[in-house]
Amino acid sequence: MLANFHELDHVHFMSDALNEAEKAGKRGDRAIGAVIVHQNEIIARGSNQIESADSNLIHAEIDAMNKCASYLRKHARECVIYTTVEPCIMCLSTIVMANIRNIVYATEDRYMNMKPFIQSNPYIEKRIHNYLGGILAERSIELLKMYSPETAEVVLHGHKL
Ligand SMILES: [Zn+2]
Repeated sequence: MLANFHELDHVHFMSDALNEAEKAGKRGDRAIGAVIVHQNEIIARGSNQIESADSNLIHAEIDAMNKCASYLRKHARECVIYTTVEPCIMCLSTIVMANIRNIVYATEDRYMNMKPFIQSNPYIEKRIHNYLGGILAERSIELLKMYSPETAEVVLHGHKL
């Protein structure tokens, strides 16, 4: 159980995730980044690598979790994952299965629309203790529009062009 969630500097950690998003955008991946925080320190960073790894499975959150997977087996419950776009169905499920209970995101994903999904599933709902959005959302949207306009459209308006 994480006692100090509300005392964490969400803006500071999201800024770091946004740096990862910018790097991803610059190399031709979707401009989405993530960091995982334990005891006020970043233990892993990740970014979207769908294009560079040629895999639909390497989203920013999955990349970050893979980088600290064995650490998560011990400490996941006290960790927070910061991601620049609200987790998709794959990442949310993986976050839950990795035992991370605290999720902070920047931009809401209107296409995936995960909140009703979370609320509809007692298993998932019980395992997500904090689900906080809107932290530096404008910067996240700016990066998406700059580097990944199609993703920006989908995330912002809930449909493909
Ligand atoms: Zn995802």
